[in-house]
Amino acid sequence: MVIAIDGPAASGKSSVARALARRIGWLYVNSGAMYRAVTWLAVSHGVPCDDAGKVLGLLDTTDFSCGMRDGESTILLDGADPDLHLTEPAVNANVSAIASIPEVRRILVEKQRTFAEANDIVMEGRDIGSVVFPETPYKFYIDASPEVRARRRASQGLADTIAARDKIDTTRRTSPLVIAEDAHVVDSSNLTIDGVVGEIVGRLKMKGLALSPNV
Ligand code: C5P
Repeated sequence: MVIAIDGPAASGKSSVARALARRIGWLYVNSGAMYRAVTWLAVSHGVPCDDAGKVLGLLDTTDFSCGMRDGESTILLDGADPDLHLTEPAVNANVSAIASIPEVRRILVEKQRTFAEANDIVMEGRDIGSVVFPETPYKFYIDASPEVRARRRASQGLADTIAARDKIDTTRRTSPLVIAEDAHVVDSSNLTIDGVVGEIVGRLKMKGLALSPNV
């Protein structure tokens, strides 16, 4: 089973998806980290992120493996964990260009789907409800006002071009960020993480998802 959580940059969806997964005991999968890992790979090799051919060539010669640890998805690039680099300014600035390359998306979507073969998962991203798992009945779209989102990023001390990323993410040709037709929209602007998770859990129960009694 899959719970899909989509939304724009800094909407709070990562914190919500992680907290939700912990609460219900499912695996948390961060699909954005996969696009970020490919971006870090390109940046660290001096490959221009808008050169699809070179990016794909690099990806082809790299062992990009996904796994899980402590209930969360993990990534290794040729055996090394890129985690510490994934929120660097150069990655933030280039990840949407990388995510606009259709073949990169095809490769990563395939990896994302394999997580659901043996696990119940909470996956967050931009196209999880619309493209990766369109058949799941459990779809959520987390939003927040642009001001709140900018404030959240700033308070994390991270330099991020969220407006620029949102523009590319919503207008690209392949799998743009959209609100899936059957997604439940939650505005997190004035809610805590627990508040959003509570709303999602309530909705899941309403839809008949059997969660353990103490959830
Ligand atoms: O979720 P996060 O902000 O870490 O995602 C980083 C970038 O990865 C997004 O701005 C978007 O360009 C891309 N992405 C995507 N599809 C996903 C997840 C992330 O295009 N499912």
